[in-house]
Amino acid sequence: MADLKEIPVLFSDKSECCGCSACMAVCPKEAISMIEDEEGFLYPVIDEDKCIGCRQCINVCAFK
Ligand code: SF4
Ligand code: SF4
Repeated sequence: MADLKEIPVLFSDKSECCGCSACMAVCPKEAISMIEDEEGFLYPVIDEDKCIGCRQCINVCAFK
């Protein structure tokens, strides 16, 4: 069966994310983790298995 849920894209470029972790805090499925990049900055990564596509993370993000 086709999986219809849409995993949101939190940012397409790191300049669109300040690492505030508001998206992680709002996610009802705890699907978002803050992962350190090679320079030590934290960026959110969505666990596609946990995500239900509710888009609350997108709605809370101040950069959208
Ligand atoms: S809410 Fe937006 S700016 Fe904040 S960590 Fe998530 S994607 Fe980045
Ligand atoms: S769409 Fe919903 S479930 Fe998926 S990462 Fe965002 S807040 Fe979490």
